[in-house]
Amino acid sequence: MATIAFIGLGNMGGPMAANLAKAGHTVKAFDLSPKALETAAEQGCQVADSAQDAATGADFVISMLPAGKHVQGLYVSGEQPLFDLLSSDALVIDCSTIDAETARSVAAAGAEKGVGFIDAPVSGGVGGAQAGTLTFIVGGTDAQFQKAQPILECMGKNIFHAGDHGAGQIAKVCNNMLLGILMAGTCEALNMGVKNGLDPKVLSDIMKQSSGNNWALQVYNPVPGVMDGVPASRDYQGGFQVDLMFKDLGLAMEVSQQSASATPMGSAARSLFNLHKSAGNGGLDFSSLIKLYQDAE
Ligand code: NAD
Repeated sequence: MATIAFIGLGNMGGPMAANLAKAGHTVKAFDLSPKALETAAEQGCQVADSAQDAATGADFVISMLPAGKHVQGLYVSGEQPLFDLLSSDALVIDCSTIDAETARSVAAAGAEKGVGFIDAPVSGGVGGAQAGTLTFIVGGTDAQFQKAQPILECMGKNIFHAGDHGAGQIAKVCNNMLLGILMAGTCEALNMGVKNGLDPKVLSDIMKQSSGNNWALQVYNPVPGVMDGVPASRDYQGGFQVDLMFKDLGLAMEVSQQSASATPMGSAARSLFNLHKSAGNGGLDFSSLIKLYQDAE
């Protein structure tokens, strides 16, 4: 069993750290929020006084933070960067969704100090984090991937090696750009059908058996009442927030810009989610985008 420092115990990191403790690892947890630390202690983690305290002597450091600047600050440019105190046997696994450029530069800064760093963003949301069924998409060397695998298996079901450093983040934004596009398209088609007198459940069943079939129609229908247990049927509470989809589409646009890749659909999806967010819907699940299409009641 390993000693694991876990930094960032929010909606995702909290349950991920709890699953590592449940699997028998020693988890030294740190977050800026006292409430998050309290919950971590209840779930079998040891609470640390600082990120440095958590990381001292750890075999692995896992971070689950909001954005690239937090990851950069923690390991490289903050007051007491963790790369200065980790041993060369330790491996850093950053599970945050951040820009690939920062992931690559932090990995390079780690390599200079002899410390391994991989990007391992996740798909599967809070439900997947709680159930231990996340998908991990790893960027790093073969040896680093193999070392991380048994740890990631305590928190996830599908573990992919996308390529070298940064590749995990690129694959993640490709997926989430497609998710944003397919949700927008599904909302558009369903709204047009409903405005022309169709029952959304009947239309959904037709499209599921036809060539328009997709993930949103199968498991995440955006129209309230069509499907039980999805955010649309509980006022778009829980699930994957518009704010996070907007963040991921922004990361996709950065990748598109840097690589001169044409992404007209991704760009349109980002604008749609931006409009929806600007109307005060940032905290709702992303399937609430259908409200943007619906006529005012
Ligand atoms: P969150 O805001 O709930 O959690 C982030 C946590 O990091 C907070 O508890 C905050 O206090 C802590 N934190 C921030 N800076 C810190 C620092 N310097 N030291 C210690 N703790 C610090 O966010 P989340 O939903 O858990 O998302 C985390 C990451 O996972 C993000 O990059 C997000 O894009 C990604 N993600 C989220 C989801 C989702 O459905 N929520 C799904 C996939 C990926």
